[in-house]
Amino acid sequence: MGERALVAVASGKKRTDLREIEVPRVAPEAGLLRVEAVGVCGTDWSRYKSDLREPEILGHHTVGRVESVGEAAAQRWGVEEGDRVVLEEYVPCGSCERCRGGEARLCDSTDPWLGGIRYGATPVSVAPSLWGGFGQYQYLHPNAMLHKVSDHVPAPEAALALPLSNGFEWVCLEGGRTVVGSTVVIQGPGQLGLACVIAAREAGAERVVISGLSADAERLELAKRLGADHAVDVERDDLAERVAEITEGRMADLVIDAASGGPSTVTSAIEIARKRGTVLLGGFKGEPLPRFPSDVLISKCLTLKGVRGHSYESVELALRTIASGRYPLGEMCTHRFGLSEVDEALRTMGGESGSGAVHVVVAP
Ligand SMILES: [Zn+2]
Ligand SMILES: [Zn+2]
Repeated sequence: MGERALVAVASGKKRTDLREIEVPRVAPEAGLLRVEAVGVCGTDWSRYKSDLREPEILGHHTVGRVESVGEAAAQRWGVEEGDRVVLEEYVPCGSCERCRGGEARLCDSTDPWLGGIRYGATPVSVAPSLWGGFGQYQYLHPNAMLHKVSDHVPAPEAALALPLSNGFEWVCLEGGRTVVGSTVVIQGPGQLGLACVIAAREAGAERVVISGLSADAERLELAKRLGADHAVDVERDDLAERVAEITEGRMADLVIDAASGGPSTVTSAIEIARKRGTVLLGGFKGEPLPRFPSDVLISKCLTLKGVRGHSYESVELALRTIASGRYPLGEMCTHRFGLSEVDEALRTMGGESGSGAVHVVVAP
């Protein structure tokens, strides 16, 4: 019998079990990653509390070291054994229209809703089972997307690469306009909102405003330390009035709705955008907006866009920013757990345990 990896398998609603799974022999075009740290994503929490059809290993914000790599894979990926890498969650086909257009994240082959393979969202029944980060090893599929990361970056910060890359993708690449000199308002000071603050700062925004609830007080303060100029508690102040004040009536060039507490922030995002402004919706709401203000969209000539995930380019941008040390990212790293505490880590991220969670990490 070969080597076995200890993994935490989500096997029921809000439950994981520690199991041993055989480590696969590495084919010439594949590899194996020894997991160093995995950030807990909001998606992990959503899957953990849902009725999964089949057991799976969650976790997909992985940083680790290449434990073994096939000859063909080493050549294609440009890595060798021992290299430290960040892994994207996507396992795209590489040949469809989306993949060829540089949008691997939209490839059907890696869409879990269509039965595609994605790290942290694939049943253990699919060989070779090691599809999630909450384990000692993660399988490197021939189509895996890897990024090298410097040794000097602390593992929890390296595990911020994917959420931070979403910030870069949304603010810099999806925003559709030059951020330089503009006012960017970000709703929701969670991991993604904070990532957008950093991206807006890096992209040269003149003003960065973040909004949240009274319960987000600590996160709003953290947002300021990460570069936000203004933080608005929407339970104490009227967001539209504050944005009007801050911009002297001009309002926001770019609004990113990264909040997930219901559809009301969609309305406020549209309200605070200036004429010809852009509104990006990036946080799933779980329900539709009952009275969609389409007339406001028309009268202000707004661009409204749904955004999701990140491109290869934005992960590289995120990793360079992390490695630069320009931001106090260590302050985002609020919790760290071991492999036997995955349930606790997920509950902490979901707000059912502990407090003040921003970036929760599992280090197997
Ligand atoms: Zn994620
Ligand atoms: Zn594809």
